[in-house]
Amino acid sequence: MTMPFRRVLVKLSGEALMAADGYWLDTQILSALAQDIAAATRAGFEIAIVVGGGNIIRGARMSAAGWIDRPTADSMGMLGTVMNSLALETALNAAGVAARTMSAVSMPTICETYARQPALHHLDKGQVVVLAGGTGNPFFTTDTSAVLRAAELRCDAVLKATQVDGVYSADPKKDPSATRFDRLSHDDAIARDLKVMDTAAFALARESRLPIIVGCVHAPSSVTAILDGRSRSTIVAP
Ligand code: UDP
Repeated sequence: MTMPFRRVLVKLSGEALMAADGYWLDTQILSALAQDIAAATRAGFEIAIVVGGGNIIRGARMSAAGWIDRPTADSMGMLGTVMNSLALETALNAAGVAARTMSAVSMPTICETYARQPALHHLDKGQVVVLAGGTGNPFFTTDTSAVLRAAELRCDAVLKATQVDGVYSADPKKDPSATRFDRLSHDDAIARDLKVMDTAAFALARESRLPIIVGCVHAPSSVTAILDGRSRSTIVAP
């Protein structure tokens, strides 16, 4: 089955970059992901990326300890996503694809500030746009940022990278009887309270009629394989 997606926003969690010993970044993992994305661009896909920051800081968890307020902790979380984005931009450039980081939080001495029209222009030219700084607002997640930017940048779908090859009825690592869904509606995803993305992200995707493809990007060339339908995934779509 060939999937009708050309421009795709890939959502990577910060944890996907983390080393086995807990160090925030494993350069081999980073390089493998960058090569995978570079291969997808060579296969004709236009790629925007949102990378999270959970390998560095999660604002909700940090503020729960009580010594820091949530907006300040979230600001630190957003800065973490900028560090991850700059690392990914560097790895993408090394993998032979032109990439640029655009941050929702303005820091012009470090990277371009996100604005929709220039981002569309970069994508039209075949450059990979790495969208940093989340939405630029506290109390949001990078999953919501991913759906927001995908809708703004006329993406055909969001590819949410996870540890497993789709959405299951239960955690397949804990429950051997868990079954995988090929397809779900946004309503199903919200009603089942699926942990694969937060409810705000699914609700925005539903409103924008934006498909979310959930798949595993651990194997080489898996982004391309998922997008052209050769690798298993779950599609959350109207
Ligand atoms: N964050 C935020 N606003 C946003 C996106 C992210 O405040 O629009 C902060 C928030 O503290 C969050 C952190 O950045 O916990 C890292 O993002 P996230 O938890 O989504 O990263 P992931 O789980 O994908 O690695």
